[in-house]
Formats: sequence, structure tokens, C-alpha cells
Amino acid sequence: MHIGPDTVVTFHYTLRDEAGVELESSRGADPAAYLHGANNIIPGLESAMVGQSGGDTFTATVSPADGYGLRHPEKVQRVPIKHLSFKGKLSAGDVVQLSTDDGMRTVTVTKAGRHTADIDTNHPLAGQTLVFDIEVSEVRSATAEELTHRHVHGPGGHHH
Ligand code: ZN
Repeated sequence: MHIGPDTVVTFHYTLRDEAGVELESSRGADPAAYLHGANNIIPGLESAMVGQSGGDTFTATVSPADGYGLRHPEKVQRVPIKHLSFKGKLSAGDVVQLSTDDGMRTVTVTKAGRHTADIDTNHPLAGQTLVFDIEVSEVRSATAEELTHRHVHGPGGHHH
């Protein structure tokens, strides 16, 4: 079966940046799973999956626009440290929780001062060209329930 609309795809991936540095990998753990055509994964990877089938391996290079979006400089802002929740000493590179009017959100600290911190609310992979090594494990038809829920059930998917 080939990957196309309304198929469920189980796959292993290794994600690297343009310089070849590994960022994430599913290898050594359970494979990932997604419902094709439901925006479960980034657009650039989903379009590279079309027509592949179980056992296929390929490399997909995804531009920021088809990945996690461009980096927005205005998403770096200075906030009072009391708005951040963290333990111990705050340092650049820490991923912490920021309390906002809409609840808590995860941000990255770019600079820590005594009373304020500069934080980046961009997705950590925003602005990066992403290189995926993909190995398709299995392709099957989605169930009626999965199509209604717009996500995969069972291994690699939702359990409910
Ligand atoms: Zn569901």
C-alpha cells in the first residue's frame, strides 16, 4: 500500500540540522505514527511521504516555511523573572514556564539578568532547515474512527 490520503503511516526517523547534527531520533524506541492528510506532521515531511510504502527509506530536506516556520525576532522579549517558573539558578539555554494571561507556556531563556530575563517564544526548530532520514515501517488504511478523530489510535498514536 502506498502513502496517500486516509492512510496511517508508521515510521522511524532521524532528524538532523543542515550541518548534520542529530536533533531527534525515534530509533531505539517505538516508531512514530501519523494519519496522512490530517496535518499531524509538518507539511514538508507529509508531502515527501506521498507514494512511499512499507520498507522504503528516503531522505527529506524541509525548508523552515514547510517545517516549524520562520523565526520571528519579535518573539524574543524581556520579562520580569518573577513571571517565570524555574528551580535553582536561571541560565541562558534553560527551557522554563512563563505565566501569561492565557496560562503557562514553554519558552527558552536567551539571557538571564538579576531581575529580568530575555526569553524566546519561537518553536525551538523555527528557522531551521530540517533533514529527515525516514524508514517507513508500515502503511495501512485508517479506520473510520481515526478519520473522525483526525489522528492515529494504538501504537504510536492516541490511546483513549
Ligand atoms: Zn481519537
